[in-house]
Amino acid sequence: MNLRAPAADFAVAQRVAQLGTETVFAVSAEAAALAAQGKTVYPFHLGDLNIPTPDSVVEASFKAIREGKTTYCPNAGIPQLRDALAEDVSRARGLDYARDNVSVQPGGKPVIAKFLLTLMDPGDEVLYPNPGFPIYGSVIDFFGGVAVPYTYTEGCDHFHLDLEGIERQITPRTRLLILNDLHNPTAAECTPEELERLAELVVEHDLLVLSDEAYFDVRFAGASRSLVSLPGMRERCVILYSFSKKYAMTGWRLGAAIGPKPIIDVITTLNVNIESCANHFVQYGAVAALTGDQSGPREMMATLKGRRDAALQILNSTPGIRCLTPETTFYLYPNVTGAVKKTGCVDHESFRRLVLERTGVSFCTRLHFGHALEGEDQYYLRLAYSGVSTAQIQEGLGKLKAFIESYN
Ligand code: PMP
Repeated sequence: MNLRAPAADFAVAQRVAQLGTETVFAVSAEAAALAAQGKTVYPFHLGDLNIPTPDSVVEASFKAIREGKTTYCPNAGIPQLRDALAEDVSRARGLDYARDNVSVQPGGKPVIAKFLLTLMDPGDEVLYPNPGFPIYGSVIDFFGGVAVPYTYTEGCDHFHLDLEGIERQITPRTRLLILNDLHNPTAAECTPEELERLAELVVEHDLLVLSDEAYFDVRFAGASRSLVSLPGMRERCVILYSFSKKYAMTGWRLGAAIGPKPIIDVITTLNVNIESCANHFVQYGAVAALTGDQSGPREMMATLKGRRDAALQILNSTPGIRCLTPETTFYLYPNVTGAVKKTGCVDHESFRRLVLERTGVSFCTRLHFGHALEGEDQYYLRLAYSGVSTAQIQEGLGKLKAFIESYN
């Protein structure tokens, strides 16, 4: 046996040069380091929750462990969970998914890579949102696709999907579209007309769609809509479903891919190759989440709404900051162009660092969600209020406001 260690300068595979990351986690580490030095930090950077997972979910998972659900389980997930997901997702979207349309995953995030591995050949063009969840661009590049960004524009009462930009950039090589309606970071949601136009484009150009619906059930008023509900879309879309946000289960790592059986079957074969199956006993907790009492998520939404309103009130009374009121997600995406200029900062990052150092308010900026596109001249922050109490919001954003006012 040759026990020689690899040369210290061994080369990683060439594709690693294309691998991006989620820089939000670096901001988290920076904030944690400051907190460890004894500084008060107000954590608005990460889309995680400081709200516990509902008791019923915890109990069902413990019970499953005690009953020996600690083995491997079917690669696509336990049948009870696949059925419960098919029913829940169908009901909310007016569709008729069945067990075969569901592949349970260790989180929503793996659906992104598995969707691309299943459908994207090297050189295929994939439209994706920028600003948007940074993993889309990273994995498209990593697997040899061509990442083509489309954007969102600020309107008077909500952010708009740049449909013209999407249409303009479609070429004969465009094969896939990633849509994250109920959008991280802007909290934008399409109007029914925008969804209809998008569906037309998808059919006209024969595209397949990843519909990232991680925030579908995180809303304060009205009802969420899915592109998948529109005529012709069920056969062209894969839904990314996540338990993380709706049930405060980010660390449990559970989600699903839901879509046409031929695609779902390949995704399940990827499960076999990559992780065998999602955590077995956690899936019993998820069945309890979907089929049991919904008071946990309801209370969570009431708490989040109180936080949203507290944050909006302070942001919109701060000079140089304006923020739209979203009915979905737990993010705010204020335009801070005036405030950045007041402080003399010249870019997003210097403003972020200055505010963190002077007030302890830690957040991400537009640049943690992609790269600036041509013509962008406004500054935006993303504030996640899912991990900060209302009292912390008032104290932290109060300090931010006083800091900006000190430049008047
Ligand atoms: N999509 C979007 C838009 C997200 O914001 C997130 C998490 N922040 C995910 C997918 C992945 O969520 P998870 O893996 O926790 O289900």
